[in-house]
Amino acid sequence: MMIELYCTLDRTKHIPVSVSFDAVLARWSVRIMMHLLRRDRLKQFLTHHLRLHCGNRELCFVREGDVLLAEVSDMPIIDPCSVMLRHAPMICVRVQDGQLMHDLADYHRLSVMELRMLGQYPHAHVPYSRTGAIWERVHSYLRTDLHTHLSSQISSEGLLEVASMHDALYPVELLERHGITTEGLTRHAMRSTFFAPARSEKLRCEQEDCEVEGIYVRELKEHHPQAWTRFIEALHIPVDEVHTFDMLERQVYRMRNPLTKNPALVRSTLLRVAQEYRQQGIDYAELAVTAAFDTAWLRAATEAILEAEECTGVQLRLLAAIPRSLPPVEMLHQLALVKYIAQHPYVVGVDFLGYEANKTQNFAWALNHVARFAAQQARGIATDSTGWDFADDFILRVHAGENGKNPDNVSEVLDIAFRHGIRVRVGHAAYGHERDYQGIARIMGQRNQLIVEFNPDSNMAMNNIDTAEQLPITAWAQAGIPIVIASDGAGIYQTDAQQLLAAGMYAGLEDAHLEHILATEQKHCARQQALFARKQQAFITHYAHKDAFFSTLEQQTRHLKRYDAMQRLAHKRPLLIAGASGSSWSRISVNHQKEITRAIHQLVHSLDPDKIYFALGRIKHEGIGRIVDDAISEYLTYHPNSRPFDVVGMISPHQNMPTLATHLNHIVVLHGELMSVPTHMTEKLALHHGSALYIGGSAFTRDFIKRSEDLGIPFGVMAEIEGASGEKARVLESQFIFHGAAGMIHQVRTMLGDDVFRV
Ligand SMILES: [Zn+2]
Ligand SMILES: [Zn+2]
Repeated sequence: MMIELYCTLDRTKHIPVSVSFDAVLARWSVRIMMHLLRRDRLKQFLTHHLRLHCGNRELCFVREGDVLLAEVSDMPIIDPCSVMLRHAPMICVRVQDGQLMHDLADYHRLSVMELRMLGQYPHAHVPYSRTGAIWERVHSYLRTDLHTHLSSQISSEGLLEVASMHDALYPVELLERHGITTEGLTRHAMRSTFFAPARSEKLRCEQEDCEVEGIYVRELKEHHPQAWTRFIEALHIPVDEVHTFDMLERQVYRMRNPLTKNPALVRSTLLRVAQEYRQQGIDYAELAVTAAFDTAWLRAATEAILEAEECTGVQLRLLAAIPRSLPPVEMLHQLALVKYIAQHPYVVGVDFLGYEANKTQNFAWALNHVARFAAQQARGIATDSTGWDFADDFILRVHAGENGKNPDNVSEVLDIAFRHGIRVRVGHAAYGHERDYQGIARIMGQRNQLIVEFNPDSNMAMNNIDTAEQLPITAWAQAGIPIVIASDGAGIYQTDAQQLLAAGMYAGLEDAHLEHILATEQKHCARQQALFARKQQAFITHYAHKDAFFSTLEQQTRHLKRYDAMQRLAHKRPLLIAGASGSSWSRISVNHQKEITRAIHQLVHSLDPDKIYFALGRIKHEGIGRIVDDAISEYLTYHPNSRPFDVVGMISPHQNMPTLATHLNHIVVLHGELMSVPTHMTEKLALHHGSALYIGGSAFTRDFIKRSEDLGIPFGVMAEIEGASGEKARVLESQFIFHGAAGMIHQVRTMLGDDVFRV
C-alpha cells in the first residue's frame, strides 16, 4: 500500500515535491521537481545541500535531469521523514491514521528572497534562520501594502483568469515571440496596445492604433496546457532570477501590457487584487496607477473599489502616479489634474515613480509645487468650505533611494516635505546617507508626517541588493521612524505579506521593530479611515452627482491638451515682469535692490489674482523672478483666503529644468532656442493684451524691450537701475519710464487700468 502527499519546497510553489510512503516496504521516497527553475546554480545548490532525514538516517538526493530523488527503506512507521536544507527543516511528514500529514508551518519553506539569492550567488547564511517565537506569528502580521503598483500587483494566474473570464484577446505576435504556441486556435482581429519601451522592436501589436491578430486567452488554456504554464511564467520575474529595470520592462511588463491596459478588465482586476489581499490577510492597500488621470479608467476603478470593499472587506486606495522623468510641461499638466482628482475619496495622493536615473533635484520644482498645494490648504488658502483639508488628506509619495546612483535623493525629498510641513512617504530608501534617518526624519516621524516604505523582495528582484541584510531597515526602525514593509507589486516579484515580513526579519528586524511596524500600519489606517469619512462627505456635498466630477475632469483634461497656458488664462490679463537674472541682479546696488523688492511686494499686494496673472522673463528661481515669487508667498501669508496668483513661464522643450520659481504653475513651450524667448513671449503678450515691466537685466532684457516697442505692447522700464532698464530709460520716451515703487504701480495702472487692482 502506498500513500502520497504533494507540497512544495518553496513559498511561491515553483518547486513541487512529492513524498510517498510504501507501508509494505516501510519505504519513504521523496521527489523534488526543479523544471520550473531557471538558474542551474540554484539547482546545483539544492542537489548538494538537501538531505532526507528519517530516524537516525541521513541521505543525499540524486539528481536526474531536473528531478531530485531520495529513498530510505525499512523505517519504523512512527519515524517522521524530513527534508532539510543545510541546518533548516523545509518539510516534515509523518504517517497518521493511514495518511500522510505535513507537520511544518509554511514559513519554513524557502522564500522568494532566498531563491533569488541562491540563484545568483552561493550565500553562506541561506536559508536564513527561522528560530524564535516571532516566527509563530509571522502569518498574521502585515495588514497593509502601502507601496504597490496595480499593473504588477495582480498575480499572473489571476491576470490570466480575469482575461479568460472576459473573453479577452491577446496578440499572437507577442506569444510567438515568447515561444508560446497558438497552433490550431482561431485568430481574430484586435487593436494594438501601445508599449513605449519596446517601440523600437517594431512589433505591430505594440505600435499605436494598428489592427493585429489575436487569440482568445481562454482557448489557450483549454487547448494548450503547457503553453498556458509558459504564459503564466512569462508574466512575472522568475523566482530565481534577478532582472534589470530594462529586462523588467521589455520582458515582463511587455507581456502584461495587452491585459493590464485592456479597459474591459479594470473592474475584475481590482476585484481579484482585493481577493488576493484577503487571502494574505491584508486589509488596506494603496495602488499607484498612472491611469488614474484617465477619466474612463478612474470612473471604472472607483466603482470596482467600492464593490471590492463590499465583497472582501479589503480597502483599496489610489495614488495618482507621475513618472519622475516626465518632461516639465506634461508634468505640470498632471499636477494640475492631481489637485483636482485628489478630491475623490479613493484618491489619497500622488506618487513620483519610475527608474531612478535622475536626481530628486531635477524635479524638485514639481515636488515643491504639489507640496505647496497641500500646505496652502493647511493654512486655509483656497480651501473650500465643503470640507477638504489637503494638508491631512493628501499624501506625497516619492520613489527615492531605490538604487545608489544619487545618494542625496532621499534627503532632498525629506527637506522639501519638511519645509512645507506636509505628509510624505519615501518609497524604498535602500540607499542614502546616515543623516537621512536622523534629524528632520525623526521630527517628521514624531509629527506623523513620514512613513518610509521598504520593498525587500522588489529590491532583490531588481538587482538593487544582494542580501537582505544590506537593507538599512533596522537603522530606520531603531531611529524610531515609522516604517512599513511593502510588495512593490506582489504578482511580478512573486511575494506576499508573509514572505515580505520574513525578508524584513532576514534583514535584521526584531520583535520590537515588528511591533513598531504594526503600530505604524494601525495608525495610518485609522487616520485614513477618519479622513475618508470627511472627504466622502465633502465629495457628496460638492458633486451632487458623481457624473459632475468625472465630466469636469474630462473637460479639464481636454482643455489642458488643446490650449496653451496663456489661452487657458484668457479671462485674465498677463503682466510680464522681466529683467535682472542671477548675475545681473548682483550688479545692482543694494539700495536699488531694496527699492525693487519693495516695489514688487507693493505691486503684488495691490493686484487682484482673479484679474491678472504674471508672466516671467526667466523661469529660474533667481533675480527678478525670485523677488516676484517671494512677494507672492508673502502675499499668501497675509491673505490666507485669497486665491493664489497664476504664474506663467516659457521653456524650450529640451531644456534641462532649473530650480523653478515656486509659484510657477503654467508653462508655455517654446518652439525654438532659449534665445528666442523674448521674441515668442512678446508675441504672446501682444496676442493676449498684456503689458510688461522691465527691471535691470542685460542683453536678454534689452531684446525684450526692443520687441515690446516693435509690437506696440504697453511697457515700462525702471529708471536708474543698473543694466538694461536703466540704459533704455535714457533714450525712451517718458511714457515708458517709471521711478521707484509708486512709479511702478502708477505705470501698471496706466497700462492695464484700475480694473486689475484689488478694491
Ligand atoms: Zn512562476
Ligand atoms: Zn514602486
